[in-house]
Amino acid sequence: MLIMCKSLNSLNKRIIKCKKCKRLVEFRESVAQKKTKRFLDENYWGKPVIGFGDRKAKIIIVGLAPAAHGGNRTGRVFTGDKSADFLFRCLYKAKLSNQPYSIHLNDGLILNDVYMTPALKCVPPEDKPKAEELKKCFTYLDEEISYLENAKIILALGKIAFESCLKLFMLKTSSYKFIHGAEYPLNKKLRIFSCYHPSPRNVNTGRINEKQMIEVLNAVSKF
Ligand code: SF4
Repeated sequence: MLIMCKSLNSLNKRIIKCKKCKRLVEFRESVAQKKTKRFLDENYWGKPVIGFGDRKAKIIIVGLAPAAHGGNRTGRVFTGDKSADFLFRCLYKAKLSNQPYSIHLNDGLILNDVYMTPALKCVPPEDKPKAEELKKCFTYLDEEISYLENAKIILALGKIAFESCLKLFMLKTSSYKFIHGAEYPLNKKLRIFSCYHPSPRNVNTGRINEKQMIEVLNAVSKF
């Protein structure tokens, strides 16, 4: 386990220094400089955002990418934005976190049997990554998953995260339908569950509500 922790730590150090995608490096840094009105007095992280949580976890939650004023500001995935507010209310109710909020690095958050990470480690303009950017960043996700030795389930939040994971395991995306709550094998060890992303757009339009999200979280935790 010590070797695994050291390896994941050294991977994370490499990720934080990464400048492989010129467009994304420029964007993450410009967002961090310009900021937004309500966070003008904060120091933004403005670098790649690494995974977070229980390294012995059974469940890996994969999101698309850090949010401009969420993870890109706070330095932690699903932290300090509306998606995090919704997701953590649900994770707490499903007993997968110790508190119903994720607001900043020192807020005392502990995940239970869950590790979470973005498929793409840098915020993309308009939340739309290019195929080549995803491909470059997949090498990190691939290595990261290999260090999470107890993982049995990947819970993919949103269609892009779902398809990114399928590609990582060399599976044809056309053979797997993105349906909320659907479950498929990835290999002998890992299964994937698909789930709507907890974005304000999906929550406000009623595509996903707390009950539906908690149902999926309960299904993966009981797996
Ligand atoms: S998206 Fe990934 S590969 Fe591209 S610069 Fe960020 S960390 Fe590096």
